[in-house]
Amino acid sequence: MSYKVLYRQYRPTNFSELVGQDHIKELLLNSIVNQKLSHAYIFTGPRGTGKTSAAKIFAKTVNCESLTNNNPCGKCNFCLSYNESADIIEIDAASNNGVDEIREIRENVKILPTSAKYKIYIIDEVHMLSSSAWNAFLKTLEEPPGHVIFILATTEIQKVPITVLSRCQRFDFQRISDQIIVDLLKKVIKLEKIKIESDAIKEIAALADGGLRDALSILDQLAKLGSKITIKTLKESYGIVTTKEIETLFNYYSNKNIKETLHIIDNIKTAGVDSSIFITKALDYLLDYLVLEKTTTKDSKWLEELILDLESCYYKNNKYTLIKATLLKYINHQSSNVSEKTMIPEIKESEIISREIIKDNKDNENIVNIRINNSFVDANISLKKEFVKVWDKYIEDLFGKNEYKLGSLLKETKVEVVSPTNILLSTESYSNSVLLNTMSEELSNNLNKQYNITTRIICLDSIRWKNEKNEYIKNKKNKTYCLITEPENNIITEVVDSAENIFGDKLIEIK
Ligand SMILES: [Zn+2]
Repeated sequence: MSYKVLYRQYRPTNFSELVGQDHIKELLLNSIVNQKLSHAYIFTGPRGTGKTSAAKIFAKTVNCESLTNNNPCGKCNFCLSYNESADIIEIDAASNNGVDEIREIRENVKILPTSAKYKIYIIDEVHMLSSSAWNAFLKTLEEPPGHVIFILATTEIQKVPITVLSRCQRFDFQRISDQIIVDLLKKVIKLEKIKIESDAIKEIAALADGGLRDALSILDQLAKLGSKITIKTLKESYGIVTTKEIETLFNYYSNKNIKETLHIIDNIKTAGVDSSIFITKALDYLLDYLVLEKTTTKDSKWLEELILDLESCYYKNNKYTLIKATLLKYINHQSSNVSEKTMIPEIKESEIISREIIKDNKDNENIVNIRINNSFVDANISLKKEFVKVWDKYIEDLFGKNEYKLGSLLKETKVEVVSPTNILLSTESYSNSVLLNTMSEELSNNLNKQYNITTRIICLDSIRWKNEKNEYIKNKKNKTYCLITEPENNIITEVVDSAENIFGDKLIEIK
């Protein structure tokens, strides 16, 4: 029985079978259907993402004499002779990188195709061509005969001369998502009757890192071992760490269970997992967590630092020891341990909304107080700095759109306090502050639309603002008095520090 490796056997034969890269498929197909063809294409992207397959499918589709549902018919003269067609020329630049090969192409392009409409040159790993080969190629690439189409494929686009790139239509192939790879693996597993643990399928997809060909090759290798494919065999063959292990590790970590955290790392190390693989997987997990879990600002800050520190372990010796040290360094930064002393009782987002709805506009002063309150909760200076930039830009744009009236009104405001949910502005004139508060919702909507910032805005006149600010500091001071009895000096330092952290200015007057 002749054995064909899986990735060859399951190579897509038309655009419908090509997985991922939907955008590219659509563009290529449209150019064929509408007869708007380029004479040169360059396909770039990570290995195993379908560049060569797409090139072959393109060659077949563009030459088929009667497309059926936009796919090659499989019945016409061209389709039947595709595999032996002298008009589809595949060249691997990795092994043919010389001037001679290119000269041969140069001579051959003049000859008309034998049976197809177009003579198609697929040059794989094109970045491997030598510079003299590029020079020889350039002229042909610039003005190829009408019956010739070049498709260049490369994993390293930065090595392709700009003079070449400017003559090609470029398509960037993306890594294929784990889910798409899992789905395809499942299909192959079923057809090939491969015995495998379901968890192992996901791990193969993760290991392939967006490359479908790699995923099928790994499946192939493991299937050849004969027995059922399990996480265990996968670990033994590829030294992987599973997603589940990483999840368990960070569960212990977030519960500050140092003993178990270190224990899991030791187990992973003992199992022979390459430390670089472990770091990559841990970073993936943390990045997902950071992006998906809507961490609080406080959490995301230390998480970002942890991620950067872990990443730097990648380039050092004794990685496992450093990984442990790094995790221990941050273990106490987690929010459950943060007994932050906000002197105003925290109001949950849901409470804020319901209270505002109930009160509606009947009790404006109440809303003002709630918003002042919520601006202080979780306020911090880095949020404020970020928002000031956005705010300045927003005002500048208003002038750009000739909205001078609103622009001037906003230009007189000062951003005072920024929390994740609320923004407090001040302005000199009382009537302007009232006016701005009536426009608060409109402003919020615009900020949301333009900058994706969801926030509530409150504006105070400068006298009221000064009072509120001093009130905050005074309350803060009193509260601290109640909680701890330390020399007054220390307490004042703490109050000033926290004020600095919120308002950004060092000198606070307490009258
Ligand atoms: Zn056909």
